[in-house]
Amino acid sequence: MTTTTFDKEAIVRKYAYERDKRLRPDGPDQYVRLTGRFAHYAQDPYMPIVEREPVTDDVTFAFIGGGFAGLLVGARLKQAGIESVRIIDKAGDFGGTWYWNRYPGAMCDTASLVYMPLLEETDYMPTEKYAHGPEILDHCRRIGKQFDLYTNALFHTQVTDLWWDEERRRWRIRTNRGDDFTARFVGMGTGPLQVPKLPGIPGIEDFAGHSFHTSRWDYAYTGGSPEGSPMDRLADKTVAIIGTGATAVQCVPELARACKELYVFQRTPSSVDVRGNHPLDPAWFAKVASPGWQQRWLDNFTANWEALAGVAVDEELDDLVQDGWTDLARRLRAIMRSIPPQERSVERMMEAFEDADIAKMEEIRSRVGEIVSDPRTAESLKPWYRQLCKRPCFHDEYLQAFNFPNVHLIDTDGKGVERITERGVVAAGTLYEVDCIIYASGFFVEFGTGLPERAGYDPRGRGGTPLSAHWADGMRTLHGIYVHGFPNLFLVQLGQGAALASNVPHNYVESSKTIAHVVRHALTGGFDVVEATAQAEEAWVDLLVTHGRAFGSEDCTPGYYNNEGRPAGPKERRNFGYPFGAMAFFRLMEDWRRSGSFDGLQFG
Ligand code: NDP
Repeated sequence: MTTTTFDKEAIVRKYAYERDKRLRPDGPDQYVRLTGRFAHYAQDPYMPIVEREPVTDDVTFAFIGGGFAGLLVGARLKQAGIESVRIIDKAGDFGGTWYWNRYPGAMCDTASLVYMPLLEETDYMPTEKYAHGPEILDHCRRIGKQFDLYTNALFHTQVTDLWWDEERRRWRIRTNRGDDFTARFVGMGTGPLQVPKLPGIPGIEDFAGHSFHTSRWDYAYTGGSPEGSPMDRLADKTVAIIGTGATAVQCVPELARACKELYVFQRTPSSVDVRGNHPLDPAWFAKVASPGWQQRWLDNFTANWEALAGVAVDEELDDLVQDGWTDLARRLRAIMRSIPPQERSVERMMEAFEDADIAKMEEIRSRVGEIVSDPRTAESLKPWYRQLCKRPCFHDEYLQAFNFPNVHLIDTDGKGVERITERGVVAAGTLYEVDCIIYASGFFVEFGTGLPERAGYDPRGRGGTPLSAHWADGMRTLHGIYVHGFPNLFLVQLGQGAALASNVPHNYVESSKTIAHVVRHALTGGFDVVEATAQAEEAWVDLLVTHGRAFGSEDCTPGYYNNEGRPAGPKERRNFGYPFGAMAFFRLMEDWRRSGSFDGLQFG
């Protein structure tokens, strides 16, 4: 660990200054959905929609969402002997985020051995430490094939209505393809970041050139392919990319190589640390892959990450994964350990945490200075906030791209793009004329919009009560999975559960085990209905509200992590994870499953 000296007060002042500069009165309302006049941005550029007959049958389990959540639940149900499983997705295939996000350079930020689920079950070794998008998409297809999830799946299909038919004790599902079928059980798992957003920049509709969102990459325009063939149609094009988040960090180097000129419009710089990707060695992997290896790796990664929050400061932990996330955790733990146990007050730990964070960010800022040759550009690319205020990024070619003569950073000094005209993009009064605008402007998130709103339908439970009404004062669940009044419905998402953000699929790995276990119990016991009791739901929410910590801090630079800097209201405060950490939550769920008493659920 480096021992850096820094002027802490000056840095904290600078953080506050940069944050205030970026605050906007419209907060999360500054973004627009890809609907109405922006609907063309949402179209699927990857697969044509194939005509099919509507389905009107009955299935045992319908799952809405064909990403890792649906694939894992589907696989575990099949393993439990439940054959009648239908996955529904608006995409043309399985893959979820990896179906849509096929921008050039897309790769996993978390090590493949823990990020890609069911590797052991599918007997697959990822080729790289951080797999690229096409390999992850192929893996999703592999899971779909191995567990026979394609047979009954409905793709390019959006659920429009979902309600509980009390008389038949079935969920009724209608879709935009005319389907009208029933399911005994329903799962919902469409991911925390599945609804793309555009910045509501004045004049955005006036642009006469080409434009698209990164999650709908237009290879017909750029040339090339997600598999990495060069974008050969951009050599005479001037391109603007708006946004410098995790997506832009990955695709800017690819655009830099392909475009005649590239303008990168920045509002807040990302923190970009070393990635160090490399191929995985089959001989090394053969030693790793003893039975049960992936669960051991998952648990080890999560345990290391949690030690970041001081959960296991003194515990000796191997670090199997050794990546940027665990490195961060290791350093912080080392600093915390250096404080004698009797002096470990909350204040002292917080101070140590802050010092470690500043030291890390000073390294990240120095890295910018070492890599980027133009001093002005380098200054603009330095992130001035705590590392976990925004999504940490890891890349070995992003900063380097700003040394290319055709790449121009347009730093908007926290203000954002001012206007779009017929001919291009305006920032600080200057018009940059471009042929194409690429919006790397991100996605609406769960705690910004609420699940029913994001889903595009509002499930109606017993007595026709919409989920949005049940959640009028904020989310209410048992274990983040079951909702009282919504029998046989299972949520697969982060809120009120483990809320592990550093490796999202791990959340689903665990919830899929629980759901298959509960469904199996209902079916073998001959129960029609399983539902969380009102008391259990209330007790769970009380526990979270009493001990919970908000995700994202108001004093951070604004972004989706902290609801654009808006104080968390009572509704947002319900979006906690389990207060004692993800590993503790996973253990609780394991014990709960093992006990066989299904506390909090009622079968009937
Ligand atoms: P983000 O929301 O992180 O980034 C959006 C970008 O658009 C930000 O830089 C934002 O600036 C900028 N922006 C928005 N409005 C304007 C405006 N008016 N003018 C100029 N700039 C603007 O979206 P991403 O798609 O980059 O990433 C979303 C998430 O997806 C990540 O945080 C990560 O969780 C996940 N992801 C994961 C990857 C992986 O694991 N491999 C790769 C890519 C994404 P500002 O910061 O100021 O708001």
